[in-house]
Amino acid sequence: MKDFNYLMPTKIFFGKDCIEKNADVFANFGKKAIILTGKNSAKKNGSQNDVVLALEKNNIQYCVFDDIEENPSVYTVAKAAEMAISQKADFVIGIGGGSPMDSAKAVAFLAANNKGIDFLFEKGDAKHLPVIEIPTTAGTGSEVTQYAVLTVPEKKTKAGIAKRTFADIAFIDVKYFEKLPIKVTRNTAVDALTHLIEAYLCTESSFMSDILAEKGMDLFKECKNALLSGDINTEIREKLVLASTLAGMAIAQSQTSLPHSMGYYLTYFKNLPHGAANAQFMKAYMDFVTERDKVDKILCILDFKATTDLDLFFRKLVDRANYTDEEMNYYTDEIMKIPTKLATVSRDITREDIYTLFKLSKN
Ligand code: ZN
Repeated sequence: MKDFNYLMPTKIFFGKDCIEKNADVFANFGKKAIILTGKNSAKKNGSQNDVVLALEKNNIQYCVFDDIEENPSVYTVAKAAEMAISQKADFVIGIGGGSPMDSAKAVAFLAANNKGIDFLFEKGDAKHLPVIEIPTTAGTGSEVTQYAVLTVPEKKTKAGIAKRTFADIAFIDVKYFEKLPIKVTRNTAVDALTHLIEAYLCTESSFMSDILAEKGMDLFKECKNALLSGDINTEIREKLVLASTLAGMAIAQSQTSLPHSMGYYLTYFKNLPHGAANAQFMKAYMDFVTERDKVDKILCILDFKATTDLDLFFRKLVDRANYTDEEMNYYTDEIMKIPTKLATVSRDITREDIYTLFKLSKN
């Protein structure tokens, strides 16, 4: 067996009303919090209110930055960090999908070090404020990963920051997911499935990440029909949420691979939702990798006969985007500049290979 190390230090509270039941936990992190969230959903689904009540119960002051957009830019994060610094926040709470949760980790570093956004992309450990994450979509798994992905307008794509930290606490309450529109449910569920598959096939996969990925795919299989029909009951939501959390834990040990790197361009240039963008490349990627036994195992667990069937499933669930030859050439050149991503595939990759993967994945 391959050597591995395992670290997942986030304390997870899972269950209905878990914030209210464990409100005391907030007192451990200081006297002032900054809440990062988007414009609406955290207010509509009750999560922001639950957090505010828990903070008030502990006499913790708070400020709210609710301007986190989807695929947040480094500049938004810098603005939020300014607020955290001026308000002297002791800890950061991210509420929402991957965007606010990733932003919370980035702000935790910027505020603790009083530095500009370039600091986020410099390698090396650094101090950071404590982070509490409350997911309200089931896909990103950011509440249990050390990653934060931000949009970098200069580079015309999204990029993972070099500063990494796990959240101290994650509160996962399925009631916040109940009213998610079906489109968001599908896109985020597909994102979670791509995390499970990429973590499983990545060169950095390990005994531990494989266990997490296999159980996550097992749960996902039980949600396939509901995702297709759109009839998502609470039991299915719970399974989707847990599959997403397991997927996050799996990529935290392993990492995402080519579909994520390729998908970032479709999200940046074509506005294709993140999950859908990864899914567009999944068939070509699974046909390309050398781990044939593992590809068979994925199909077996998910109950698909071939990668074509998985592709068909994705096509029924989420949108796709088209791109020109010129765009393909540009995306390919950019990906060839990221050797760490190319190294997630256990075979030598040429420029021609990446170009072909784009070509095979066109509509
Ligand atoms: Zn993802």
